[in-house]
Amino acid sequence: MRAYRPSAEFPRHLEELYARFPFDRSLADDPISLVRPLAVDLRHAEVAGVFASTLAIGNTTAIRGAVARLAGLADGDVAWLVSPGHARERARRLASFRHRWIRGDQLDYLARVLETYYRHRPSLESAFVEGFTDGGFAGGLDELSRVLRADALRGRLGPPPRGYRALFPSPRDTAASPCKRLTLFVRWMVRDRYPDLGVWRRVPTGELRIPLDQHVHWIAYHLGLTGRRTRSWAAVEEVSEALRRVDPLDPVKYDFVLCHTGISGDCPKERDIAVCGPCSVRPDCRLWRGRTVTT
Ligand code: SF4
Repeated sequence: MRAYRPSAEFPRHLEELYARFPFDRSLADDPISLVRPLAVDLRHAEVAGVFASTLAIGNTTAIRGAVARLAGLADGDVAWLVSPGHARERARRLASFRHRWIRGDQLDYLARVLETYYRHRPSLESAFVEGFTDGGFAGGLDELSRVLRADALRGRLGPPPRGYRALFPSPRDTAASPCKRLTLFVRWMVRDRYPDLGVWRRVPTGELRIPLDQHVHWIAYHLGLTGRRTRSWAAVEEVSEALRRVDPLDPVKYDFVLCHTGISGDCPKERDIAVCGPCSVRPDCRLWRGRTVTT
C-alpha cells in the first residue's frame, strides 16, 4: 500500500493555517504564557522553562495550574529554586507538591542538580551545544538529558528520588519516546519568534525538532507527515523533516498551531463538515481523502 502523502499544495495550505491562527486566543491555554512573564533574563528563562516543561503532562489547565503553584512556592522568583543557601527551606516548600505522578522531592532534586550545574556553567545551552556539535539535535538532547538526570553528580547529590531519571528521556537510549518535554524546552529557548523566548543564540532554528504531543501527532499522521501510528523519536524525525520541506529555516514554527488546533477544538478529529469546512489543510487530511464538500 502506498504511503499517504499530503497534496502538492500542502505548503500553501499549512502557511494559510499558520497565518490565520489566533495565537493570542490559544496563548492563554499554553504553559508558555506563564513562562514568559517569569523569564526576565536567561537564568530565569531556563529555570522556568525546565520546570514548566517537566510539568507538561496532562491537560493544559492542569499543567498551567502546576506551573503557577510552583512559581507561587518560589514567591514568583523561579531562580530562587536554584540559588544556593536555602536547601532546607526549598525542600520544605516543595515537599507536598504533586502534579500527576510528579512529586515535590523530584523537583527538589532537579533544583539541586541545576544549582550545582550553574556553579560552573552559565547556561544549559552550553550542555546542549556540546552534544549538538557532534551528534546533531538528538546529541544535544542526549547531553541535556544527561545533565538533568545528574548521571555525573550521584556521588555529590546522592541517589535521585524514585522515578526521577524517567522524567528526562534521551532519544539515544529511549527511542520509543518522542522526548516531547525536553524538545519543547529547547523550542522555547531557541526560537525568537512569538510566542517563544529566543534566549539561546547558538542553535539554528532549522535544526529544531517538533515536540510531538498527542495533538500534534494526530494531525501530523492525518496530514501524511508521518506514517507512524505511535509516537516515537523516529516519528519526531519524520514530522520534523516534512515540516522542514515547508520552511527549512524554521520548521517548528508550526508546532504551536498544530498543537492548539487540536487543544482548542478547531480540529474535531473526525469528519464534521461544520468544523472542517473552513480548515485550510482539509485537502490534505486523510479523513477527507477523495471526498468533495457540497454546500
Ligand atoms: S479537515 Fe477536519 S479533521 Fe482534518 S485536520 Fe482539518 S479540522 Fe481536523
